[in-house]
Amino acid sequence: MFLRSRSVLWLLAVFALPVHAETFALAPLPYAYDALAPVIGADTMQIHHGRHHQAYVDNLNKAVAAEPGLANRSLEELIGNLAAVPETQRNAVRNNGGGHWNHTFFWASMTAPSASGAPAPELMAAIERDFGSFDAFKTAFNAAGASRFGSGWVWLVADSEGQLKIISTPNQDNPLMDIAPERGTPLLGNDVWEHAYYLNYQNRRPDYLAAWWQVVNWSAVSARFAALKP
Ligand code: MN
Repeated sequence: MFLRSRSVLWLLAVFALPVHAETFALAPLPYAYDALAPVIGADTMQIHHGRHHQAYVDNLNKAVAAEPGLANRSLEELIGNLAAVPETQRNAVRNNGGGHWNHTFFWASMTAPSASGAPAPELMAAIERDFGSFDAFKTAFNAAGASRFGSGWVWLVADSEGQLKIISTPNQDNPLMDIAPERGTPLLGNDVWEHAYYLNYQNRRPDYLAAWWQVVNWSAVSARFAALKP
């Protein structure tokens, strides 16, 4: 009994040690790999989450481990203040910190087509106020995603006044970054990198953008909007 207690204490001490090399971790998807089919197939989800997102996490951990001063910063602190990241690791934190934040947000923005739902009344009213109609909002969002040259993201954000805007960012940038030309609080984001849709849609990005609305988790998006209130 005495020995067993000592072993437990020893184990607790080991797990309490800081593990700087693995500051950030890849969380499991909040649904099965095939949950978004047929809009996004299981093979795309497995590669996108298990390889692409995992690589962003691994490379972010390498960047943070290379600069001891970065060890205790949250992901939001890192990407929201890239100016405070030493130049040696700034691009790595921008690309991989952005990649980790964007994909974590993206997985939580989607759900099975049967559970997609609709914007809550308050969010719908804000969409109609700022874009004219729900259809006009989706058309503008799809156009911003389709016209992003190369790789990037399209976002619905709320600015500091609470007004809704559509923003497109290159690569793994996002509207939380201090380097973003336009900043805001993301409410919804779609990944328009080819890896997000190529197996299902090949080069037909507009078809992916149009179909993607079927898997938007409006309950999650509406909760983000509700959380903006003071
Ligand atoms: Mn991606």
